[in-house]
Amino acid sequence: METSEFIHNVLRSYYSSHTVPAPPDIAEREFGAGVDKKIDWRHMSFMNEQQLNAYLRANVPFYISYSAGYYEFPEARPMQKKNWLGADLIFDFDADEYETNCTHPKNMVCDICMGRVKEECIKVMEEFLIPEFGFEKKDLHVMFSGNRGYHIHIRREDVRELDQNARKEIIDYITASGLKPERHIRRVGKRLVGPKPSDWGWPGKVARRISAEISSGSEKSIARIMGVSPATARKILAKKEAVVGGIAHGDWDQVSLSPKTWQRAFGLVAVGMSADVDRAVTMDTSRLIRLPNSIHGGTGLVACEVPDIERFAYYKDPVVLGDGEVRVIPTATMDIPLKDKVFELEKGKQTSLPEYAAFYCAAKGLVKIWG
Ligand SMILES: [Zn+2]
Repeated sequence: METSEFIHNVLRSYYSSHTVPAPPDIAEREFGAGVDKKIDWRHMSFMNEQQLNAYLRANVPFYISYSAGYYEFPEARPMQKKNWLGADLIFDFDADEYETNCTHPKNMVCDICMGRVKEECIKVMEEFLIPEFGFEKKDLHVMFSGNRGYHIHIRREDVRELDQNARKEIIDYITASGLKPERHIRRVGKRLVGPKPSDWGWPGKVARRISAEISSGSEKSIARIMGVSPATARKILAKKEAVVGGIAHGDWDQVSLSPKTWQRAFGLVAVGMSADVDRAVTMDTSRLIRLPNSIHGGTGLVACEVPDIERFAYYKDPVVLGDGEVRVIPTATMDIPLKDKVFELEKGKQTSLPEYAAFYCAAKGLVKIWG
């Protein structure tokens, strides 16, 4: 059987026995769906959950997405005729975007890359959105994409009206883009002045981090984090009480270092504290994003809300398809961990897999369906 026919059959059976809940304000959302591509069709809309599910049952898309944006006329085209009413604020984290030492093929994942994605997502929430932007945990809906990433959706009324420029400012802040250290640490007369730990925003964050590092770090860690030589780190440590005491008042002149050295340290520390997020997704106010509770046609995993990201297992928690046996012939030799098992594929050696694993492996091109 062709892979696409197998996937179609599994999805048809899934959607005919499950109801996908409507996203909030469904009637104001644009939908897009696809079989060959993520989006083959867009500019669709549904008035309610029944209409959405009738579409899924009749058309069995491999991928279905809905708009972060709200529109008066979501079906209208071109885009200007939709009359944009606002958009959720979205942050996107995808394993594709990060450099790691993974050795697997590009379309696969492992604990290293998925761990990295999870780390960045948690960083954005716990170091920026909650403490600095004032969101509450309940405002932040973390979604698993069904494949290699997570999204954060914020639907609060007060973010909906943010335009692209406002969204750009938010993403610039989180990614520390456009920070100019020479503006924050500079000579005023003979004194070298800089931020105090109590200052708002990046200057305060960096001053706090540098103070903490000098107070309790080692020569090695100071050299690494601030980008200075071991000799300079020793020089700082020799006067550490004075240096930290000076920074507390915005006086960065307690040890004789050049402004350039401090500025470089400021920049490096800021980059280390910033988060790595997809800028384009946050800035795009008409983005289509995976519909939660739909099946990702490239994996057979369900795109779903993640109540506790720290404990979420990407290879286990989103497995929702059945475990009826499917006969397959592997086209690759590879171990695939899914649910509670590791499936050992051996190229050319016919075997049986439970439906959820057969779907995952077939969609990734690792097996052919036999019979
Ligand atoms: Zn990996």
